[in-house]
Amino acid sequence: MPGFEVFGDEERKEVQDVLDTGVLFRYGFDNVRKGYWKAKTFESELAARIGAGYCLLCSSGTAALSIALASCGIGAGDEVIVPPFTFIATIEAVLNAGAVPVFAEIDETLCLDPLSAEAAVTPRTKAVLPVHMCGAMARITELKSLCDRKGLILIEDACQAIGATLDGKAAGTFGHMGCFSHDSVKTITCGEGGAVVTDDPSLYSKADAYADHGHDHVGNDRGLENHPILGNNFRISELNAAVGLAQLRKLDAILEKQRSHKKAIKDAMKGLPDIAFREIPDEKGDSATFLSFFLPDENRARDTIRKLGEAGVDGCFYWYDNNWHYIRKWDHLKELRSSARPVEMLENCPDYREVGLPQSDSIISRTISMLIKLSWTEEELLQRVDKIVRVMREK
Ligand SMILES: *Cc1c(COP(=O)(O)O)cnc(C)c1O
Repeated sequence: MPGFEVFGDEERKEVQDVLDTGVLFRYGFDNVRKGYWKAKTFESELAARIGAGYCLLCSSGTAALSIALASCGIGAGDEVIVPPFTFIATIEAVLNAGAVPVFAEIDETLCLDPLSAEAAVTPRTKAVLPVHMCGAMARITELKSLCDRKGLILIEDACQAIGATLDGKAAGTFGHMGCFSHDSVKTITCGEGGAVVTDDPSLYSKADAYADHGHDHVGNDRGLENHPILGNNFRISELNAAVGLAQLRKLDAILEKQRSHKKAIKDAMKGLPDIAFREIPDEKGDSATFLSFFLPDENRARDTIRKLGEAGVDGCFYWYDNNWHYIRKWDHLKELRSSARPVEMLENCPDYREVGLPQSDSIISRTISMLIKLSWTEEELLQRVDKIVRVMREK
């Protein structure tokens, strides 16, 4: 998944352009920026690349989620259906909006189970927020049809899935808004950065204003702009956008390499006993940042992850024990420990210690994910495949 593996002269050139102007601000300074608009250029290239009507770059994936929630009018006391397997940022963004995360199960896609999401709908539900985890997509068609039937807002957390598609349509473009992260370990990185996309011009203009203290960005004199709404500062700087722009132009090459590396490992594992692969609604659209598979039970999974480690196969994850990505270890959430304490959070949140997700526990306790790197040589890849196959054949 990490775009930092392919930094080169392209990133350097984009950054140098910005430094040569001295203008790090993404807005204004029209006369001294020598025609360089890195954030704007990134936005139009990303929108075109994934087929979204509008794109707004911002300071992080978490910011993108906050902007999307605010632009869709989700706030105090509204329930938002979320999966228990994600990066904690998804949940934080909902809480920081004053809304209430309501957990539904994941299924063998490792993403939100549409049936469980439907069962979690209450009269207070305002939105469904699926996460396209580990590079591949959720059952987004079913989730979209649920939202359409129930009149709910659909926001996609596509922070880990830039470039993934379902039947040719890009992750992030199915819902009212889609969110991306370009943090330092994502598929394309700005250092810190994110993006929201939408096809709805009114959601876009709300997002555009909200992310910059309510500025309407009409005209090119910042002093004369209006401020129709209160907002926040989730802006990206031109320096970050410059890095991301060079990275975005490498996205197709990155995806191609990830897919070929993943295929080599997956093909070698196909005949192995007692493993099943993660379900991917459209295999061709997998961005292939991870290879995820299931063992028959928790003990076998624990045993396998230990042996993979001993054999020197790095980049393997056992999410059941990981305290960033699965609810089991989210004690901070269970105790609602935060520095900021929105009143709504205390008044409306269910007791997260009591949330039972047996289907997700059963899946995640058996899941191992392997990070797919870009920088592996042919030789390293072969050795890796060899080690994996040896470990998996041991009983
Ligand atoms: C990385 C990530 C985020 C947050 O992105 P940042 O840019 O680090 O704020 C949100 N959701 C998921 C699923 C992520 O992986």
